[in-house]
Amino acid sequence: MSGKKDATRQAVEVAFGVLVHYQRLVENRELSAEEAKDRAKEAIKGLRYSSREYFWINDTHPRMIMHPTAPRLNGTDLSDFADPNGTLLFKEFVSVTNVSGSGFIGYMWPKPGEQAPVEKLSYVKSFKPWGWIVGSGIYLDDVQKEILNLRNLAIAGGVFFALLTMALAWWIGSSLTKRLERVIDGLKDVAQGKGDVDLRKRIAITSIDEIGALSTEFNALMESISDLTTFRKVIEEDDVMEDVYSRLYDVFTDDLKLKSPVIFEVDDIHKRMKPVYPLTLNEDDQSCNQEILDNCNLCKAKRTGHGISSYDFPKICKQFIDHGNAHHVCIPMTIGGSTIGVVQFNFNGDEDIESSQHVADQIDKASQYIKEALPVIESKRLTATLRESALCDPLTGLHNRRFLQESATNICSGALRRNKTIGLLMCDLDYFKQVNDTHGHDAGDLILVETSKILKKSVRDSDLIFRFGGEEFFIMLVDVEPGEALSVAEKMCKTFEDHQFTLDTGERITKTISIGVSEFPGDDESLWKGLKYADVALYQAKDTGRNKAMRFTREMWKDDQY
Ligand code: GH3
Ligand code: MG
Ligand code: MG
Repeated sequence: MSGKKDATRQAVEVAFGVLVHYQRLVENRELSAEEAKDRAKEAIKGLRYSSREYFWINDTHPRMIMHPTAPRLNGTDLSDFADPNGTLLFKEFVSVTNVSGSGFIGYMWPKPGEQAPVEKLSYVKSFKPWGWIVGSGIYLDDVQKEILNLRNLAIAGGVFFALLTMALAWWIGSSLTKRLERVIDGLKDVAQGKGDVDLRKRIAITSIDEIGALSTEFNALMESISDLTTFRKVIEEDDVMEDVYSRLYDVFTDDLKLKSPVIFEVDDIHKRMKPVYPLTLNEDDQSCNQEILDNCNLCKAKRTGHGISSYDFPKICKQFIDHGNAHHVCIPMTIGGSTIGVVQFNFNGDEDIESSQHVADQIDKASQYIKEALPVIESKRLTATLRESALCDPLTGLHNRRFLQESATNICSGALRRNKTIGLLMCDLDYFKQVNDTHGHDAGDLILVETSKILKKSVRDSDLIFRFGGEEFFIMLVDVEPGEALSVAEKMCKTFEDHQFTLDTGERITKTISIGVSEFPGDDESLWKGLKYADVALYQAKDTGRNKAMRFTREMWKDDQY
């Protein structure tokens, strides 16, 4: 609107310039005043701008001097000329120009060639030398139309850009979705329904953007899950704990490049711990005070159940023997709130910061493997304990008859292969019932425990001792020379004869033992037959006075007796 007003004002200035020009010609006496006015009227009458805008001239009476589109008004008195709103517009022109020489006036006026007056805004300027007022105006509905056009253009442009943006967004979106769909298809492929995941499957990587990175990360995740799952399957099938520990150790050292780890096993009942892997670990190689072995709660990782790292806090564990700049990270093997072991990783401390970050990453991976191995270790330990308790006598800790049944074949075939003799000793305490009767059952138990210790001391570590019944023990002397077993048994009898058992009351008593001796495979190719022979010999020893060892002889065997 203000642009339009400016344009109108400038146009009026041009028409004004025409008047100035002709006035100058009058002053220069090139034209008479009448002639100049006529020519000026003619010139301005023909002036147009913006295709149809025109100028009119009236005087200050006001009377119309020249109107190009309403020539009927020329010469008429306009003093009472009013528009439909009653505005005496020509009088207004005169009063505005009287005050400030020029100005804008709003009123109603028909467009050229039309009858109905419409709103118009005109600029008028007085030319004093001639007493004329020249003016021109704009029809407001034209401006309105132009504004409307501009608005429509703006709306059309806006709609166009909105559509363009939407199309662009759709194109980008659909190209992303298409590639994401490929990733999702890959995921579906990997997880083929019914929880049956194929861990070998990988997603094809087709781009290097975020979706490509997503696929790469997913594949890396699958890789590590697959490694862990395979690891777990393998250790589940191991039958001895040592194999499980050795596989863990191999993962730590070979795959994760963690130097010198030590795996400790915790015995929570006896509050002890012992290094179980590597097997050949010297005391000098151990980086902890040896007291932790007898009191496992001195080990900070065991006690707290948290990972301990000297990288986080120097001298974090008091039990770690500081070899200058050595570092250690200890990971507890915790299951169901109890710590069944600790893995210690040792570092020489020369690593720079960067590689200590690398160490932390590798420790994280190692922890994953430990976590994976834990249930397997736990269940294998439990099985071993159960087995041990099923095969051991709880009072003396010696093997029981069931253990002999399970291991007899192995023991015998070993002796046969080595072409060696096994001495079979059936031992029975003499008049043991008296101990219970005189000193009570607890005193009897005490003597049984001590007897088992005496028996252990009397034979080699490789020999096997079983508690067969109440006060009956069976001993297998492995790899003896024929005839040697009897002398071992006789020595045993002597040891018992000389030994004094001290009861809880402080009272000291002596007990003797009778032993029947046979040999395998010398006496019979069946171990069980040999055992029976030893039993027969024992009865002979009992029958012939007790406190003695007797070698089985053929004459003792009476088929009808057994
Ligand atoms: P013999 O010289 O003929 O072998 O006489 P004995 O009294 O040793 O033999 P007998 O078989 O008559 O008695 C064995 C006793 O051992 C009977 C039982 O009270 C006792 N006994 C068996 N098992 C245990 C045990 O676990 N603890 C205790 N305190 N006594 C037991
Ligand atoms: Mg007895
Ligand atoms: Mg007996």
